[in-house]
Amino acid sequence: MPSHPPHAETIIQGIPVSPGIAIAPIHVTARGFSAPEVYEVAEANLPSEHQRFADAVSKAKAELAEIQQRLADLSSDEEARIFEAHIMVLEDDALLKRVHLAIDERGQNAEYAFYAVMQNFLEAMRRIPDPYLRERTSDFEDVCERVLDSFESSHTRKTARPEDRHILVAYDLSPSDAATMDRSLVLGFATEMGSVNSHTAIIARSLGLPAIVGLEEEAVIDITALTPAILDGYSGKLILHPTEATLATYRLIEQKKQRARTALDALRNAESVTRDGRAITLSANIGLLEELPAVKKSGATGIGLYRTEFLLLNEEQDAIPDETAQTTAYTEIARAVAPHPLIIRTLDAGGDKLPAEPLSEPEPNPYLGWRGIRVSLDRPEIFKPQLRAALRASAHGKVALMFPLVSGLTEVRRAKNILRECMEELSAANIPFDANLHIGAMIEVPSAAMIADILAKEVDFFSIGTNDLIQYTLAVDRVNPYVADLYRTTHPSVIRLIHRVVNAGAQEGIWTGVCGEMAGDIRLTPLLIGLDVEELSVGPQQVPSIRKAIRSLSHAECSAMADDAMKAPLSADILKMTDDLAKKYYADLFE
Ligand code: PEP
Ligand code: MG
Repeated sequence: MPSHPPHAETIIQGIPVSPGIAIAPIHVTARGFSAPEVYEVAEANLPSEHQRFADAVSKAKAELAEIQQRLADLSSDEEARIFEAHIMVLEDDALLKRVHLAIDERGQNAEYAFYAVMQNFLEAMRRIPDPYLRERTSDFEDVCERVLDSFESSHTRKTARPEDRHILVAYDLSPSDAATMDRSLVLGFATEMGSVNSHTAIIARSLGLPAIVGLEEEAVIDITALTPAILDGYSGKLILHPTEATLATYRLIEQKKQRARTALDALRNAESVTRDGRAITLSANIGLLEELPAVKKSGATGIGLYRTEFLLLNEEQDAIPDETAQTTAYTEIARAVAPHPLIIRTLDAGGDKLPAEPLSEPEPNPYLGWRGIRVSLDRPEIFKPQLRAALRASAHGKVALMFPLVSGLTEVRRAKNILRECMEELSAANIPFDANLHIGAMIEVPSAAMIADILAKEVDFFSIGTNDLIQYTLAVDRVNPYVADLYRTTHPSVIRLIHRVVNAGAQEGIWTGVCGEMAGDIRLTPLLIGLDVEELSVGPQQVPSIRKAIRSLSHAECSAMADDAMKAPLSADILKMTDDLAKKYYADLFE
């Protein structure tokens, strides 16, 4: 067995975004090239691993020199220089030394040691401020591929990901990375970028996958693959080389949490009603069909927000699924949750979500740009099939529709006109649908909140998207860790806007729910109930604790607190008021 130097336990602090504990070795991911197989090498065989590495590098360099020469002969000097740079990478002493050291220290096969070192190197490149140098990252990925292909080996490179269960560590992960993760292998993830309200974090919570974001800058560069680790999604700690004592502590915490979860699951069929009899609709947010079993298990009364971006814009498909494919998906969900409602949010492309189509020029300010309902209204060829599919599904369950990022009345009217056209087309073709299907507006732009009284006359319900409402009200990017401190869910302006929307809705006799992440925060349940919010739509994993919170509270007491909160000058004051009430009635949920 190779001798490994002892490692001290190291804690890297991040921001917890999805609760849970994962105990596994780390895999560091860099996009672009696939990982080779990893295996242990007996100490006696280490010299031959060094040789294999040296041979692979020589072979790759010879190939590169040949290409460079060919290009020079063709007078493609610029391209030839690119390959010269590739060769220089393979002559970088520091890099080569790191690989040799990794072979010795970890007793791993040479190709994996090289791959692991390059992953860190590529991560470092991705954050070089100079855009020209940053763009060269893909060249270096090519170099990696070439060297990995140059290894003489009986082991073939067949794995794109490690085959063992692991904790994924990355500089950043996109929402679709999170959505397509192999859940049987990835036990949790930690990134440097991201925030509590990013879609990547939302998906992690939905899937019950422990996750941390906002690791210290450059942390990922120093974490080596296969390091044994604990990811604590409750406190945001990534613990490298945990001691036996730490491991034992975490196993106990896991058991305790499991017992608490089982106790909450027992309330699955209990009504979500306050102690003094106010019923709150408790529904679930989903983005993937795979979440349906979790919704069922949670006992949520329907789906308050179905984010359709992953169905429509999944990076792995060439085109947006057609009307028939969408009808199948919506019908499956509507049937699964019947007799409860399924609220389908129409495509919300743009911002931190995927673009609806590649734009020729990147938008200078995508969050204030072509997003949400704006894209749908400009692209009836995308919007209409989605509306018709939702209508067709409405014949098989209780379906409602809502429009994202509404900023004014005209958008709602135009969307409704297009919906009417779709209804007429289906009627003409004798295709059944629910002609009374409810239409909602998401309230997530301050202008919409300010004219809620006007919008309330046009729609059947409001669903407040607090993730965006906070971002746009406070001018704080919801996914930017540098301003995460300023992203205050209980900012007085936010509370006043919610209050305003709920009251405007009540005046017109329509209900108002909250489907942003605020709804799933047990500290804020007293405040939202006190503000007379009638529906809370939360990730399926959060349903049990929110149900318990609702059942523990009195609406009258929450209202009195919310009245005080409306007069409070600081977000911290408001947070304390609601948090105090939460801890008074369900302190156990915070343990
Ligand atoms: C919101 O903005 O609160 C919301 C629910 O929508 P999304 O998070 O998908 O933007
Ligand atoms: Mg939103």
